[in-house]
Amino acid sequence: FLANMSHEIRTPMNAIIGMTDLALDTPLNDEQREYLKLVKSSADALLEIINEILDFSKIEAGHLDIESIPFSLHDLIKQTTRTLASRAQEKAVALDFRIAPSLGEGYLGDPHRLRQILLNLLSNALKFTHRGRIEVVVELDSAATDEDAILHFSVSDTGIGIPPDKQALIFEAFSQADSSTTRKYGGTGLGLAISQRLVERMGGRIWVESVANVGSTFHFTAVLKPSTHFVHETEPENHGDSALAQRRLNILLAEDNPVNQTLARRVLEKLGHIVRVVENGADALAEVRAQAFDVVLMDVQMPVMGGFEATARIRQLEQSSGKHVPIIAMTAHAMEGDRQKCLDAGMDGYVSKPIQNSALMEALAQCGGGDAVESVAKPASVPVAAAGPLFKRAETLENIGGDDELLQQLIDICLADLPASVAKLHLMLNAADAGAAGVAAHTIKGMVSNFGAEAVVTQLAAMEKSLKQDDVPAAAARMPEVAALLDQLMKELSAPA
Ligand code: ADP
Repeated sequence: FLANMSHEIRTPMNAIIGMTDLALDTPLNDEQREYLKLVKSSADALLEIINEILDFSKIEAGHLDIESIPFSLHDLIKQTTRTLASRAQEKAVALDFRIAPSLGEGYLGDPHRLRQILLNLLSNALKFTHRGRIEVVVELDSAATDEDAILHFSVSDTGIGIPPDKQALIFEAFSQADSSTTRKYGGTGLGLAISQRLVERMGGRIWVESVANVGSTFHFTAVLKPSTHFVHETEPENHGDSALAQRRLNILLAEDNPVNQTLARRVLEKLGHIVRVVENGADALAEVRAQAFDVVLMDVQMPVMGGFEATARIRQLEQSSGKHVPIIAMTAHAMEGDRQKCLDAGMDGYVSKPIQNSALMEALAQCGGGDAVESVAKPASVPVAAAGPLFKRAETLENIGGDDELLQQLIDICLADLPASVAKLHLMLNAADAGAAGVAAHTIKGMVSNFGAEAVVTQLAAMEKSLKQDDVPAAAARMPEVAALLDQLMKELSAPA
């Protein structure tokens, strides 16, 4: 029942979040932008709640599978902390991790569920900490035997703490330490209940040590087997051929929902691609027969003929021609096993709805054999934004003859264009396309130099110079700093005068 409801709920959520994103990308006045940002953050919060409820009910119904696959412990911890790095930076809370040197690198277990638990503990730590630091530590538990390694994870913070009488209660579903918590901090009280059940399924336990107004440390253990067969996820060696990411693509979009059609089409067109839309699998099949596409984005549930069947037919068709068009599934089913189902059906990639730009770009890049956008976006160290303001309002205004209205127009255009341009720069760097990345850096430089913004102009100029010399790694190394500076600039530009 919930799996079906999940589809019904996620489809309109997809539209709400996606359309809000698109609207935020258009020229708006301050008031409109403020309202839409609230719509966006509320929709994001609602989606998080829906995800938690679905997860919890799946666990309660006994439908939760714990995987056993090899992974790198170091990559897992590094990536998980990186996810929250910018939020920590915004709150000026330090975020570090430490892995005991005696620990091996590879383990057999469920990295996705471990990540989910860690993310939950980390986002709680961040939510309830207003100054100081948060640290993730992984050590070998004393109870480890030769075959099984029992790892001990802890997440400690210097936050508001939890009074002793509430410490057992918070692991129960829908419970929070304080009745004012929801009002002040939001949340459903499901995160720890889910984490506890996941930990138990991994043969471990979870507990908390906390002192009110001093801080909390959440501990959990998990039984894992050492493994030597893991692959690194973080440091891709080959940026060489994400062909799909770097050129204008001819894309077939099979999607029956008109809102999702508009949404996906706009996002793709903004990235510079050409999009042909059909409403069901049968039409998709006919289109593929009639002309060549670089990639097919395929909804799974469609009338007349669904995505799985259409994919199977396309693959059949290709047997005689020897071609293989990449097919990316778009599905609102965020349930376990969906990814596998899509891959089994002959699809090459998968994005779950609500569709996020970054996920879509990542899937496009991956289908081309390239690496995810994120792999370049990662900060080598947490980037430091410029201390003073980047946007020189008075200077800019003077340059354009004191025309306030024109200034606002310039700001609106910049705010509307910048996110897509930055995404493009990421992609091109990732695709190691020095030429196209250079053009993107140059465009951004031109756009932001209107507003002063020397710090970022200097960085972009240096980046451009490296790209002229075909030195993509040197340019990519500047990306975290550039992204942080551009973020800051956008914030300054959106702030009321
Ligand atoms: P939620 O965060 O959605 O409220 P959780 O189950 O993750 O749900 O947490 C339950 C409660 O435990 C929180 O509402 C909060 O009162 C308390 N809590 C969890 N982590 C921390 C922390 N790091 N510091 C202080 N209180 C915490």
